[in-house]
Amino acid sequence: MKAPILVINCGSSSIKFALIDQAPDTPRLSGIAERLGSHEARLKLTDEHGSARDISLPRATHALALKTILEHLEVHRPIGIGHRVVHGGERFTAATLLDDAVVRTIRQTISLAPLHNPANLDGIVATRRLFEALPQVAVFDTAFHQTLPPHAYRYAIPEELYSRHGIRRYGFHGSSHAYVASRLAEVSSRGEGGWLIAHLGNGCSATAVWAGRSLDTSMGMTPLEGLVMGTRSGDVDPGLHLHLARQLGMSLEGIDQLLNQKSGLLGLSELTNDMRELEQAASEGHAGASLAIEVFCYRLAKTLAGLACALPRVDGIAFTGGIGENSPLVRARTLGHLEALGVRLDSDANEGLGRGVEGQIHAQGATPTPEIRVIPTDEEGYIASQTRALIASLASTHQTEEVL
Ligand code: ADP
Repeated sequence: MKAPILVINCGSSSIKFALIDQAPDTPRLSGIAERLGSHEARLKLTDEHGSARDISLPRATHALALKTILEHLEVHRPIGIGHRVVHGGERFTAATLLDDAVVRTIRQTISLAPLHNPANLDGIVATRRLFEALPQVAVFDTAFHQTLPPHAYRYAIPEELYSRHGIRRYGFHGSSHAYVASRLAEVSSRGEGGWLIAHLGNGCSATAVWAGRSLDTSMGMTPLEGLVMGTRSGDVDPGLHLHLARQLGMSLEGIDQLLNQKSGLLGLSELTNDMRELEQAASEGHAGASLAIEVFCYRLAKTLAGLACALPRVDGIAFTGGIGENSPLVRARTLGHLEALGVRLDSDANEGLGRGVEGQIHAQGATPTPEIRVIPTDEEGYIASQTRALIASLASTHQTEEVL
């Protein structure tokens, strides 16, 4: 491997990582340390040739797991580390080199992402301690959406909640949307025009991108806003919270759990949050599964149509994420609700496209209609490229300063 970057995504009990070469198509070494802190903690490693290893690490902490990961990477020592950080608030608009001051500022955003940022920070602190000599970079899920104009990011609530408490829409999945936007500019004849991008995984969000910049997105202050997701409700009437509390006596924690973990595809179907299983169940006549898929697709279409308002022109729609890349059914059902935008799907191309493969699936006609494309996402590759670019620019600034 040449000048690899180690990408780290630290959760509260897991660490996902990948070692990514300078040449983007080189196979990656990757893995996950799971159930950290518990007796069942383990490290799963997949090498560049695809062979997997499973190592038991009973009661391992984040620091011990990171140390073990580095030992296994020793032959390909990274030149830098890129960390995924969920929330960068308004302070971080781009990937940022980590130093003590930056770590302190990330700490100040914990109130905006109490579930995610503490785990990301634990990973950063442990990694900086272990690999003192390596440059480390934070890449924020929110940064790509810092180009939203105020009319897209403000909630219609009293002003001081924004100015004093930072309550506004931020948007997430930025690394995925940014990667897909840059890939669209490379592969589409329409180039960097106006795109609606649907990232559909366990979490789902859609973004309107014009000339490579995010102009509006479906997630808000938290990742709960917007589309129907695996276990998250997405948009509901804000009055629902009061109703659940007053009429059903639910606590705030109970409502939080209901909307984040028991709703979405799982809540509607009463079966599963997994789209592949829902498609199977629906084909066997499960009414809840059929309804869940229909609500998912209709709400996605409605959001995409709404996001079109952010663009001077819709050049195309792109699907990504596990569902977007693999489900012809979801793509076809969603686009079926969007005839008003002039989209025309080539059903054979949609059905025939390999799973997880890049391709175009719009009907070719005399009058140009919006393109419809499938772009497999690569969030880790994006984090590695941002990290590499920042390290390279710092090295060249350093050299210039030495010459001066
Ligand atoms: P995450 O957000 O955790 O990274 P993914 O992007 O891997 O999740 O997406 C997971 C979702 O993709 C699941 O709902 C899964 O069922 C769905 N999915 C994967 N393959 C298929 C398929 N062949 N058909 C339909 N859905 C699929």
